[in-house]
Amino acid sequence: MNKIVRLFMREIVDKNELQKTAVAARVASILMMIYCTIFAGIAGYDGSVYGTLIVVLMALGYALAFHYTYGKSVQKACVVFNLITVIGISSTVMWFGWDSGIQHFLYALVLFLILFVRMSIPAQILASFGICSLRLSLYFYCKNLKPQFLFSGKFDVYMQITSTLFVFFVIIACGTAYSIEIKQTENALLKYNKELERIACTDPLTKLWNRYKMFEFVKEFLAASNKFCSVCLCDIDYFKKVNDTYGHEAGDKVLVTLAEIFRDELVYQGAAARWGGEEFLLFFENLNGDEALIKLSEIRQKIKDTVVEYGNMNISFTMTFGLVEYDRELSLDENIKIADDRLYSGKKNGRDQIVY
Ligand code: GH3
Ligand code: MG
Ligand code: MG
Repeated sequence: MNKIVRLFMREIVDKNELQKTAVAARVASILMMIYCTIFAGIAGYDGSVYGTLIVVLMALGYALAFHYTYGKSVQKACVVFNLITVIGISSTVMWFGWDSGIQHFLYALVLFLILFVRMSIPAQILASFGICSLRLSLYFYCKNLKPQFLFSGKFDVYMQITSTLFVFFVIIACGTAYSIEIKQTENALLKYNKELERIACTDPLTKLWNRYKMFEFVKEFLAASNKFCSVCLCDIDYFKKVNDTYGHEAGDKVLVTLAEIFRDELVYQGAAARWGGEEFLLFFENLNGDEALIKLSEIRQKIKDTVVEYGNMNISFTMTFGLVEYDRELSLDENIKIADDRLYSGKKNGRDQIVY
């Protein structure tokens, strides 16, 4: 089974062609070859020598189309497939009459043409109407002229069943070959979009949200809930000294460690974003100012107790916080401005404190 799948899926040589076209042309050609072989078997058994010859020639034509799908031009295979179908169906209907049911493949042919043959839209529509006219012409031909050979009793039934089944098989094969790739592309696009969104919203060093994402989050919270919330702007104390003393990489490690603390402490209670270099914005969902102050005191203590190991150096640091209970009468920027003013006064008053 795997071998058969690999045969159909085998990479195409034609660089300008999509794999789905080759797969559809391969599967459709094979199905038509099987159909023509069964048809030839029934016609031969029922005693039509010339009719059998027509369908055998048709099967050979599909074998040629199948072969071309592995060559340099898949479109050549499609053209051969279309020509064989049009010529083969016309001759077979004229020979065996309308009851052979082979004319129904013209529907499948329109689908194949639209999905896989590369041509302009007007040409596509014109060709489809051409196929429609061919079907009508064949109908009137059969109405006015007696066929050369009529299937007898049960062979007529066998032909109807075979034709119906294979028309469906070809339509299903073409539709599936086309939709598989669309679905794969859709999935890849969705994944890519999610990745892009993640990159666009995340600070690369700390993996915390950036300003843009935090703004979006707060806006969504305010629109969805009437509950209290609080905002805090905070900044590492004397961070320049950390960089100067231990090096920039050590400073980075401090920022990453701090981000981990925020993430751990704010689970289900809020979110943190990197606002600037060593400045962060914390948002407390469903906590009024007093409640946020309690949570923030824990965070401040945890930061004070944290020792960042870098090489053989141990780095300790503190932060200053400006906290505000969110005032819905003011804009987000205005609330942040109040928090920033409080942070500034905390810095002036000796740092390592929460101003509320
Ligand atoms: P203050 O207590 O007043 O906030 O003093 P400070 O030294 O923290 O403030 P200042 O604004 O003078 O210095 C901030 C420093 O943060 C300067 C800058 O080099 C550093 N910094 C900003 N972004 C990064 C970063 O991504 N990594 C590292 N290692 N340092 C950064
Ligand atoms: Mg600072
Ligand atoms: Mg700063």
